[in-house]
Amino acid sequence: MNKSFGLVFKMPIILMIAFLYLPQFLIAQSLPAADMCVDLRNFYLATLSNSGLNRKLVCADIERVELLYDRVIAISPYSLPQSNLILSNDNRDLGEFNLMYGTISAGVDLNSQSDVRSQEIFLVHEIGHKIFLAALDNRVEFFNRLRSLREAYNNTSKAYFVPIVRRMLTNPNCQLDTECSKHAEIEMTQFQAETGNARSELKSFENDNRTELEAMLGRRGIVHHYTELYGDLVAAIFFDNPDIVTLGFELRGDKTQDCRSFIRELPSPFNNLDPHCSISKLRTNIWSQWVTPRISDKPRLLKSFADILIDDMESNLRNGTPDPDSILLSLERRFEIVK
Ligand SMILES: [Zn+2]
Repeated sequence: MNKSFGLVFKMPIILMIAFLYLPQFLIAQSLPAADMCVDLRNFYLATLSNSGLNRKLVCADIERVELLYDRVIAISPYSLPQSNLILSNDNRDLGEFNLMYGTISAGVDLNSQSDVRSQEIFLVHEIGHKIFLAALDNRVEFFNRLRSLREAYNNTSKAYFVPIVRRMLTNPNCQLDTECSKHAEIEMTQFQAETGNARSELKSFENDNRTELEAMLGRRGIVHHYTELYGDLVAAIFFDNPDIVTLGFELRGDKTQDCRSFIRELPSPFNNLDPHCSISKLRTNIWSQWVTPRISDKPRLLKSFADILIDDMESNLRNGTPDPDSILLSLERRFEIVK
């Protein structure tokens, strides 16, 4: 976890692969599954990471996230598949989105009102990444293939891992109960075999598409510039506040991040290559000239916005110019910005 939320999106490819091992890690570390929650609406599994010093989280705390998620889905132009949620009680974990599995994670101190408020803002940004991923899945063949690998993995977890967790939750003494532990062991063996299959499919995909993966999702991958802008826009639209992400950082007591706002003036000249801020020079104009006239129909706005970003991404990739300066120029044309 780190302070720059959304960074899992640009983690090295090798680390993405490591996420395939997550359930085994959970099995080894967490049985009996006291810190896991199942039978949720928007997530097939939630893990509570209570390693922070703040109030410990319990499964009932997830309902707050679920209610927020329900409200964001209402403006999403795409349906979002169930995924995994990791909630932490360490408020240094602002939020992350994992592209490979659609996993959302965020940290909070539930005793702090400003933490709770800022976590809502960061969560909506992360769900925004998920909406953008759904758009990529629909429009870009490369992501469509990744989606099937992700779904295979998530379906495996749902079918084999969730029942193990449920068994442990309903019978906390399962490990001492011969019948119960026998069932859990069989399910675990099946789960490991199925995960192995999902892992080798992903490995082949990685080997066959190294160049494309690097261009899209590597450390300097082009997707990061677009998805960070999109995540912030979803938050701004959802809260009807173009300044909301910057306010979120201020609520956490972080240094001001004017480049995450759609209304704040930036210092001139402004040059920031971080994907969270690389397109920020266009934000105030995008908001006043393109977003404002369309704001009455949020799902439609978010669909058109994703379409423009993906068209731009594909054309910059085709032209071999996926650097931030080219993106700035091409997006300025696509949003028909008048200075
Ligand atoms: Zn992000």
